[in-house]
Amino acid sequence: MKTIIKYYGKYAVMIIVSLLFLTGEAICELQLPGYMSKLVSEGIGSANMDMIWNYGWRMIVISLLACVCAIMVGFFSSKVAANVSRDLRGDMFKKVMNFANEEYNKFSVSSLITRSTNDITQIQMLTILFLRLIMFAPIMGIGGVIKAVEHSSGITSLAYVIVAAIAIVILLIIFALAVVQPKFIKMQKQIDDVNQIANDELNGMMVIRAFNTQSHEENRFDKANKDLTSTSLFTSRMMALLMPIMTIVMNGVMVAIVWLFAYQVEDITQVSNMMAFMQYALQIIMSFMMISMIFIILPRAVVSIKRVSEVLSMDISIKNAEGKEEPTGERFKGDVKFEDVSYSYGGGANAVENITFEAKSGEVTALIGSTGSGKSTIVNLIPRLMDATKGKVTIDGVDVKDINLKDLRNNIGFVPQKNTLFSGTVASNIGYGVEEPTADILDKSAQIAQASEFINSSPDGMQREIAQGGSNVSGGQKQRIAIARALSKNSPINIFDDSFSALDFKTDAKLRMALGEEMSDATVIIVAQRVGTIKNADSIVVLDDGKIVGIGKHEELLKSCPTYLDIARSQLSEEELGL
Ligand code: ADP
Ligand code: MG
Repeated sequence: MKTIIKYYGKYAVMIIVSLLFLTGEAICELQLPGYMSKLVSEGIGSANMDMIWNYGWRMIVISLLACVCAIMVGFFSSKVAANVSRDLRGDMFKKVMNFANEEYNKFSVSSLITRSTNDITQIQMLTILFLRLIMFAPIMGIGGVIKAVEHSSGITSLAYVIVAAIAIVILLIIFALAVVQPKFIKMQKQIDDVNQIANDELNGMMVIRAFNTQSHEENRFDKANKDLTSTSLFTSRMMALLMPIMTIVMNGVMVAIVWLFAYQVEDITQVSNMMAFMQYALQIIMSFMMISMIFIILPRAVVSIKRVSEVLSMDISIKNAEGKEEPTGERFKGDVKFEDVSYSYGGGANAVENITFEAKSGEVTALIGSTGSGKSTIVNLIPRLMDATKGKVTIDGVDVKDINLKDLRNNIGFVPQKNTLFSGTVASNIGYGVEEPTADILDKSAQIAQASEFINSSPDGMQREIAQGGSNVSGGQKQRIAIARALSKNSPINIFDDSFSALDFKTDAKLRMALGEEMSDATVIIVAQRVGTIKNADSIVVLDDGKIVGIGKHEELLKSCPTYLDIARSQLSEEELGL
């Protein structure tokens, strides 16, 4: 809650101005019935044209004033609400951008999207309503009572009518809160679900078609959709029911007032009093209804506020060490060292354990092992996509946790296993990590990554459009663009996580040769499944089930490491093995 309130501080002036106008509007509104009553009794009643003009003018001026105030209030309250929700959305996005794996796993993507759209809209609506009513309703309520007493012609039973009406309104609110409130809480969750399923299904369209599971998926979506529909129908119906009941209450009050006055009316003064009293009574009841509106909207908005502040107040686990907030722009030599590193994704078991090895600059270090053996986990620890649970990763002898994140990542060219291209052009994707990529840099990176051929074969060349997620290029082409993207940064440390798997053997070989030539003094870490890809590496780290079972060169490992021999046997012929 506190996290959100902070956001209003910035707009305090606007809020105060809005409240002042609101007070003005309320005061004007309170004057009108009084003048009308005078207009009737002193003007119309005694056929005094001067008085009619006199009060008539005042009423027109006051109405106009009230109107101007109302417009200003609308202007400022919408502005505050829109600005606050813009700030909230912006900060939420920034926050999520800095989420590490750990935080990211706590929210689903769809929930994050609902939170930054629908939930913030709820907060926006509450803000508008709150600013509109917060001063208005109390002034109208209290002022209305005072004025009504003035015009009651001493009929005490009128008070009972109003008290009874207010009691009914309050009862209705309590009923609405008890019945509707829990549903509102459920509704935000259900919106999450619908988004989640829609997101899932749109992303997995190909798989759904290939497995002919359209009807299953339709049912799944249908269920979530129906749940949401029935909840929102229920709440809307309840709300819709309230309105006619309120109207009945109001009309009942009118009838009662006329009835009570009817026994007393002797002259025009009392008719005019009755007219004024009616209006004040309406204002009092209205002010209670307004407050009730807040109570109806508040619970849903509170749920939204909680959901938004959950994201905003999340502790970011991966951040700059103290005193390292500013990037220095230094370039590393690039010696990467793992010292007894373990990492656990949570739940006790370690995904990798006691990892100790070195990747020196100017050398190619390879990681090989079956799927799930922890290769990606290990390389993700270098750019601090996650932090080691135990032990430390160092670059040039400095713990990565003590390096400014920007510096650290600027020094690393990373090709993740699951790489993503962004919508744009081939050029915008390859130059993604460089501030001002020149044509030279783009061409050279593409050349090393063996991407030039297919880039140039398209008539648009570097300007060829890339669809969202890179869905309009083949897997191998996507990999090569991702490799070129990492290379264009010309970093001292280059990490390729299973980046050659979608390449044919010939391209794989050519790429490695080009890499070797161009990156002779960089640190190259290659994660691979194919022995052929890493045979010539300066050092090969063999992983099995999260542990290192061998480190060495190809020939040595063939003799000393049974796991490596197994992998090699399954892929190479006896001749190639040379045993
Ligand atoms: P590799 O890259 O060698 O195929 P990974 O490093 O991706 O292996 O995975 C190592 C182990 O960690 C596997 O058992 C895998 O199931 C687990 N793992 C990987 N990513 C996550 C994650 N985000 N949350 C929980 N466990 C994970
Ligand atoms: Mg992997």
